[in-house]
Amino acid sequence: MYPFTYTKAADTRQAVNAGRRGGRYIAGGTTLVDLMRETVERPETLVDISGLPLSEVTVTERGGLRIGALVTMSEAAADRKVRTTFPVVSQALELSASAQLRNMATIGGNIMQRTRCTYFRDVTAACNKREPGSGCAAREGFNRTHAILGTSDACVATHPSDVAVAFAALEATVQLLGPDGGRSIPFADFLLQPGGTPSREQSLRKGELITAVEVPAYPRPLRSGYLKVRDRQSYEFALTSAAVALHISGGVIREAKVAAGGVGTVPWKLPAVEQHLVGERPSKSLWAAAAARAADGARPLEHNRFKVELLQRTVERQLRIVGGTK
Ligand code: SF4
Repeated sequence: MYPFTYTKAADTRQAVNAGRRGGRYIAGGTTLVDLMRETVERPETLVDISGLPLSEVTVTERGGLRIGALVTMSEAAADRKVRTTFPVVSQALELSASAQLRNMATIGGNIMQRTRCTYFRDVTAACNKREPGSGCAAREGFNRTHAILGTSDACVATHPSDVAVAFAALEATVQLLGPDGGRSIPFADFLLQPGGTPSREQSLRKGELITAVEVPAYPRPLRSGYLKVRDRQSYEFALTSAAVALHISGGVIREAKVAAGGVGTVPWKLPAVEQHLVGERPSKSLWAAAAARAADGARPLEHNRFKVELLQRTVERQLRIVGGTK
């Protein structure tokens, strides 16, 4: 560790002012403290936001859900409104990390968490995300767990969050408060693909604080669920995952929302799969044909070619589970 200043914000305005002056927000601390111990992150000032009133799950006017940024993963997963309206969100949360971590980590912190690329966490390795311009050790190194979609020459790291995949599928929005007031941005625009600047991971402006994630209302009934494929059954990040939500009425798929995890530099929305499903009747052959589009545009690396087929199979299996056709 190294010296840093710690301050606890009494209200959101005080937090944003401290953030505008360069302070880093901390709540559960489950990612940031680890990275500080490893000297991957070296913030000069920590702004503790854990006392702010952002810990509620509420139903929005239009019937969607607003999950406060400081709701813990455990609380969100157990919330009756979340479980009944968007099981895909609670399942993604329950398949993440350990119970102890889920009790500490918050929704805002979860979507802000940084990659698990081992080279990023090894301060002796070249890493454009940690040290811009230093190179990417993963490209020529062991890249079995890395991304096949949304990569660039500068970075091929995956985004590690499970619940972010559910939020991407459901086209959630991120609510922000900054020095110039509040704004709302689509989840798809919140997390950034690496391009030539992998150290910039979110489209946050200086001092902006996440206040909530909002999931829009969908026609009922909406069937949804999350499938995570990993090397072992717990305490492990996804090799591939699929978040699926379907509204089926009159035997026809009216809405299809699908995203994948473990394969993209950001949670990877699958519009080609969605388009293949809408207007069709559920069937085994439909799931297979739609899932065949899941890896469109993939650029696998030396050690992660298996992810192309694994992704297609993961999406197909989850479509069958949620769609109800065995
Ligand atoms: Fe760093 Fe990204 Fe390369 Fe990993 S993949 S070493 S995070 S630049």
